[in-house]
Amino acid sequence: MISKRARNMAPSMTLGINAKVKSLEAEGKKIIDLSIGEPDFLTPDVAKEAGKAAIDNNMTRYGPAAGSLPLRQAIAKKLKEENQVEYAPTDIVVTSGAKHALTIALTALLDPGDEVIIPVPYWVSYPEIVKLVEGVPVFVEGKKENDFKLTFEEVAPYLTSRTKAIILTNPSNPTGAVYFKDELDALVTPLVEKGLMVLSDEIYERQVYGGDFVSVASLSPKVKEHTILINGLSKSAAMTGWRIGYTASESKLAKVIGDISSHLVSHPSTVSQEAARAALEHAQGDMEERREQYKQRRDYILDFLKDVPGIASVAPEGAFYVFLDISSLRDKVKGDSLSLEVCEALLDQHQVALVPGIGFGADDFLRLSYAASMEDIKEALHRIKVYMEQWQ
Ligand code: PMP
Ligand code: GLU
Repeated sequence: MISKRARNMAPSMTLGINAKVKSLEAEGKKIIDLSIGEPDFLTPDVAKEAGKAAIDNNMTRYGPAAGSLPLRQAIAKKLKEENQVEYAPTDIVVTSGAKHALTIALTALLDPGDEVIIPVPYWVSYPEIVKLVEGVPVFVEGKKENDFKLTFEEVAPYLTSRTKAIILTNPSNPTGAVYFKDELDALVTPLVEKGLMVLSDEIYERQVYGGDFVSVASLSPKVKEHTILINGLSKSAAMTGWRIGYTASESKLAKVIGDISSHLVSHPSTVSQEAARAALEHAQGDMEERREQYKQRRDYILDFLKDVPGIASVAPEGAFYVFLDISSLRDKVKGDSLSLEVCEALLDQHQVALVPGIGFGADDFLRLSYAASMEDIKEALHRIKVYMEQWQ
């Protein structure tokens, strides 16, 4: 009864763990939740006020499928001023979150059987979205010693006549790796020369700590033409529940993406669009302050981990995750999946929630999100240390 496509789909591990934590909390258990990647900050007041005003002003009717013009103008302005890429408002499609942006962008690009390069470790939803739109994920493993970043030479052997696109997440979820300008150029430009499209997921662009973030589309006019930029307000403005994302691409593609969206959701909530516009226009300062706080947390964690036996980690240069290498436990912990077993033990015995690396295609790792209070981070690290010490 259920389609093969749907049967082949794994549920979202990040959202699944979040649901499990919530249900344990409902039973009265106190969990320190460093699992889901959701800012612990609140949506800026200016955005909340704009959302309320939208309701009071009866902005509660259908709007344009590609999103309201003022919001698309605000996005175009942001892309020009912050990312040095010029898009007309008509090149932008506002979506119900970046997930939806990825889904309709891939629907616009892929014929059944087309291949999409997905660097490993990957964010949980990429392979599932590619499969849902009848594409074929092709996984290319990044090496830990290179901070999991890929070079063109590593990707080239995986290219076939069916390769249509690559999904790049910069900064990366789950590793926190950041491709800086030269690395990005060296990877992307030859791929574009070969005709590939780049889906550039830049949702963590504001969480970069060790240098300047560079948007793929700013590399050259040719790269821009082959890029579908994916971004949103979830992480940058702490607006996860408002569900606003967007695509920016060359205009013919943008038209198709907008048309697909018109059939799927008509357009994202008009109230959320107003709130997102206000956040983009008036809350930039708040966002900068948050980056500094994330950086302090990251530095604290990396420093603490030096004294935790059996865990090695790569210093992340962006996003709000640390990817913990627990391969030292491989011969000690029994079970089919090391990362699942360790996460389960941490949750059941120490009330700390992390995400198993297996969900990101890397079973030797756990993902820790530091989008949480310093107090929670400190206590969780202490408990992780106690857990690790028992194996030494
Ligand atoms: N891309 C990445 C890399 C993410 O981590 C997430 C998780 N929020 C998304 C996209 C989806 O974000 P949104 O809330 O806008 O759907
Ligand atoms: N992207 C976040 C994460 O990786 C939120 C959950 C989700 O959308 O998958 O935790």
